[in-house]
Amino acid sequence: TRTPVTVTVTGAAGQIGYALLFRIASGHLLGADVPVRLRLLEIPQAVKAAEGTAMELDDCAFPLLSGIDIFDDAARAFEGTNVALLVGARPRTKGMERGDLLEANGGIFKPQGEAINAGAADDVRILVVGNPANTNALIAQQHAPDVPAGRFTAMTRLDHNRALAQLARKTGASVADIRKMTIWGNHSATQYPDLFHAEIAGRNAAETVNDQNWLENDFIPTVAKRGAAIIEARGASSAASAASAAIDHVHTWVNGTADGDWTSMAVVSDGSYGVPEGLISSFPVTTRDGEWEIVQGLEIDDFSRARIDASVAELSEEREAVRKLGLI
Ligand code: NDP
Repeated sequence: TRTPVTVTVTGAAGQIGYALLFRIASGHLLGADVPVRLRLLEIPQAVKAAEGTAMELDDCAFPLLSGIDIFDDAARAFEGTNVALLVGARPRTKGMERGDLLEANGGIFKPQGEAINAGAADDVRILVVGNPANTNALIAQQHAPDVPAGRFTAMTRLDHNRALAQLARKTGASVADIRKMTIWGNHSATQYPDLFHAEIAGRNAAETVNDQNWLENDFIPTVAKRGAAIIEARGASSAASAASAAIDHVHTWVNGTADGDWTSMAVVSDGSYGVPEGLISSFPVTTRDGEWEIVQGLEIDDFSRARIDASVAELSEEREAVRKLGLI
């Protein structure tokens, strides 16, 4: 039998955590033959709720689940962790300015970065889901100098999956026929879902759709504002789809992208496509043996350039704001 992989989940008692933990424990994160040990991090007032979820996990009798530990202390929660899913974050509440939001999240992601630096396993891989995810990932990464920067990623896979679903719906294609979808930039309303490099059954997606009005005024805003539409319809924010995308992100990272395809991940920029070095921005990436690589050489026309630049400018502003707050 294989040694269990240690997976730490923060915000474990939240909505996304509740949808995520059962899929991790049933083998969807790492594979049907990989046992997992869960370490759950919560704030003290939510520890009891996390214990309730742990009881339910016990009751599922998952053969791959080899243990669950619950902590309210980051240093202990990240001890020996191989995969860290940072879901817990401070949500924006009424009257809160962006600076307040960044500061509150700095108070969470700085100590978590330090704890990962001090105690995580050498092969640790980190996915930040909690918003503002890209900048929270940057804060954590900056406080983990001994961990290769490329191990810190933020989630745009839900946006990517939403884009696949919208394109499939518009064209009648199956999502399985769509390749090379890309989300560029920030996981926010400025994100840019790019159809100009996507393919449907081998044909260029933008050409297949051949409807610039739909692309500009329907597709892009629908993908970018899908979160708000879900809240409007469900009366609560998306949780199961976010959890599913987190599973996809890590599974693809660890197991690799298919030949002739890529995925979207927010990763540390090396300056590719004019994105300032060090920002954690979404790119088209291929993965192999647990390493990602930014897809190079794509032609970016003026339409795409303007949208990528706008989203990246927002990331630069967020980085400036957290610098001014002394968070990085
Ligand atoms: P959720 O589980 O619904 O969401 C958690 C985070 O994921 C939020 O920051 C949310 O951002 C973000 N998110 C990213 N993408 C999406 C998406 N597509 N749809 C919805 N959310 C998305 O929040 P809950 O309030 O239910 O739970 C949060 C838990 O985290 C609580 O149990 C709390 O106690 C815990 N927590 C733990 C901390 C820690 O471990 N140190 C620190 C802070 C909180 P958005 O703002 O957009 O909703």
